[in-house]
Amino acid sequence: MPDIRVKYEPGKYYAMADAAQHDMVVTIKCRSCRKTVHYWASDLVKVVGPDHPVARPPWRCSKCGEIEFLQVSREMRTAHKPMTGLVVRRPVKQVMRWLWKNERI
Ligand SMILES: [Zn+2]
Repeated sequence: MPDIRVKYEPGKYYAMADAAQHDMVVTIKCRSCRKTVHYWASDLVKVVGPDHPVARPPWRCSKCGEIEFLQVSREMRTAHKPMTGLVVRRPVKQVMRWLWKNERI
């Protein structure tokens, strides 16, 4: 059976599905307020979809609202770098809410 896994090549364009396939941690760092959050790519792919470019921030900074100052990096967990002790933000549950608008009758 052929190996369908995408070969890891540093610097190559990466979709979120590629990063998830390589068991990567995606780090989003805000250069404006210095907030840093780590995510599993496999969690992000459920939220932003498989084709979302890893390098593009999936949302604005939750602390200061900036998006232009967000820096996204990815790192692969290896035997040499197991990332033990790293705090990763994980999704708990999806919440659906209604949006309302005013309508003249
Ligand atoms: Zn910020």
